[in-house]
Amino acid sequence: MPTIVAIDGPGAAGKSTTAREVARRLGFRHLDTGAMYRAATLACLEQGLPEQESPQLAEFLKSLRLEFQPLSSGEQKLLLDGRDVTAAIRAPLVSQRVSAYSALPMVRERLLAIQRRIGEQYDVVCEGRDIGTRVFPEARFKFFLIADLEVRAQRRYEELRSQGFDQPLDKVREEIRIRDHEDSTRKHSPLRKAKDAVPVDTSHMTIPAQVEFVINHINTSL
Ligand code: C5P
Repeated sequence: MPTIVAIDGPGAAGKSTTAREVARRLGFRHLDTGAMYRAATLACLEQGLPEQESPQLAEFLKSLRLEFQPLSSGEQKLLLDGRDVTAAIRAPLVSQRVSAYSALPMVRERLLAIQRRIGEQYDVVCEGRDIGTRVFPEARFKFFLIADLEVRAQRRYEELRSQGFDQPLDKVREEIRIRDHEDSTRKHSPLRKAKDAVPVDTSHMTIPAQVEFVINHINTSL
């Protein structure tokens, strides 16, 4: 049975950077489920499929192919039907619409199946919103990362700038707030801390400190 490390939490709490580095240190795969929801959103937007369940959406999801391709740099590419969408899924339009598509059971069921298949094959550090509660409730290790909204907004603002998306800080903060609200109040698999997840407040932690915390916790529990 592969080992699963689940990392959940709201947007920009430090999940991706921590998960990527923890995966590298442990020699596990990094499974970024947020990237998968973003890719599904991008695909639906491109197809002109609105954020509601329909036979067309069901048909489209059936044929959707998502694949992570590890690179020698330790990063990974996300391929949507063979096309590299790693950068495109970070576009502001995708961020604005992703919560609405993610709330649809049809979308969740399809991505859940892909995520579980990966988790059956590889040791993974899996990050998202519902990993410890729904995708891998039996995960060996579970963490729930949080941080103050202001800290998260600043982090996301800088991250977006470095990716060439210049957005005012106020707008970035508002979008995070709205997305957190939508993610935690939706009916299916809302963002929630699993009872047995270890809470980590990263507001005043550096990235190396977050990684060290998670690694230490894993090592002491082994
Ligand atoms: O992690 P990231 O901010 O890239 O996730 C984008 C969006 O994907 C989230 O706001 C949420 O709507 C959705 N998501 C989800 N379940 C997950 C991971 C992400 O619904 N496990």
